[in-house]
Amino acid sequence: MIKILNILQNYLNVKRIQTFSNKKFHKWQNKQLQKHLKWVNLHSPYFQSLKIKNLTNITQYPFMDKQIMMDNFDELNTKGIKKEAAFQVALNAEEHRDFSPTIGNTTVGLSSGTSGNRGIFLVSEEEQSAWAGTILAKLLPNGFKNKEKIAFFLRANSNLYESVKNKKIEFAFFDLLHDFEQHIRRLEEYQPTILAAPPSMVRRLAEAVQEKKLTIHPIKIITMAEVLDPIDAVYIEKVFQQKIHQVYQCTEGFLGCSCSHGTIHLNEDIVFIEKQFLDPQKIKFYPIITDFRRRTQPIIRYRLNDILTLKNDPCPCGSPLLAIEQIEGRMDDLFILRNKIKNQLEYVFPDFIRRACITASENLKEYKVIQHSEHAIEVQCLVNDEMKRQETEQHIQGNLLAFLQDKYVTPTITFGPYEEPQPLIKLKRIENKMPVKEVRHHVE
Ligand SMILES: [Zn+2]
Repeated sequence: MIKILNILQNYLNVKRIQTFSNKKFHKWQNKQLQKHLKWVNLHSPYFQSLKIKNLTNITQYPFMDKQIMMDNFDELNTKGIKKEAAFQVALNAEEHRDFSPTIGNTTVGLSSGTSGNRGIFLVSEEEQSAWAGTILAKLLPNGFKNKEKIAFFLRANSNLYESVKNKKIEFAFFDLLHDFEQHIRRLEEYQPTILAAPPSMVRRLAEAVQEKKLTIHPIKIITMAEVLDPIDAVYIEKVFQQKIHQVYQCTEGFLGCSCSHGTIHLNEDIVFIEKQFLDPQKIKFYPIITDFRRRTQPIIRYRLNDILTLKNDPCPCGSPLLAIEQIEGRMDDLFILRNKIKNQLEYVFPDFIRRACITASENLKEYKVIQHSEHAIEVQCLVNDEMKRQETEQHIQGNLLAFLQDKYVTPTITFGPYEEPQPLIKLKRIENKMPVKEVRHHVE
């Protein structure tokens, strides 16, 4: 059982840290990090075996990713849990739709991925309390003053999300697997004060509201699990008459969320973040995270696959936590085109493609851009007025070419029918489907 007191303590801690000055914060963070690294070296056989000389110096540690984590699962975790046993428990739970698989006091979670590439995550009770306290502190609009009813849309329920339910807060879980009409009926009855779901689902709900099939009045809307595309943000904000808040979370942890000014701040009060820059201007990077609160399954210098853009100006909220302009998407979905001057393959960031589309025409309702090969890009459009489709597509093509042709060997741009997003598949408006991912090794 999660202890409410424990959650509350974490809650207060987060609120306290938010008032720190920059200097004080980084001093505090460094202390947490050092303490954690010492602890991990005492308790994780994997880290002991690495025989790291300067224990408190993070740069002495090797990088980690899902593969390394799974290959060293048994020695890495500090509870002596075996990978085979954990997999068995997780798969069994999935099959029986049992949402609370545990080994002893440790919750076992399965991360998505192809069957050969699935990850297993271990979280203890204390870590769950810390997670719940942090998420409450960062997301609740009024702290603990009013009772909040949260409608939470997820692919599958999990122990983690069921952990919060008392007089002040209540979670209702909506399985993305279920029928959309059923969601509408339940939401109408439940009347959530907070709606938390992937943007593709929030968009469908907003459409239902506009078509008068649904009447809800959430005071806060939180999107997660997918990249929030401006075309969806604008639509949702118009329908619900409020700013959307974003949570940046993956199986590796709760990594950030937006503040009262709508800026996404990374959770540096839980995670130490190193930046691997991807551009000469040092604005875009992928994060390397060290979670200094996770002891059951240490996450030390773990490379994430996401591309983040730094925010230029400081956020007016005054938080010492790193401010992010946007979460652009996965590294795997970067477009790859040939620079015609240097004659080499290069990454093309999704925000350029995105801007080329959404600024093309007011008639564009939804879109997808898919790269099939070095020479082929497909654009799928959903338009408001079918009569003006051709004109809209021409504008998009014009914008894309204007952006691409100076620098790159221009790919063929074709237009195809819009594929409706599937509830269980993450919506990606910009997606790279090039069959040979090895091509990435040649990208400069
Ligand atoms: Zn802020």
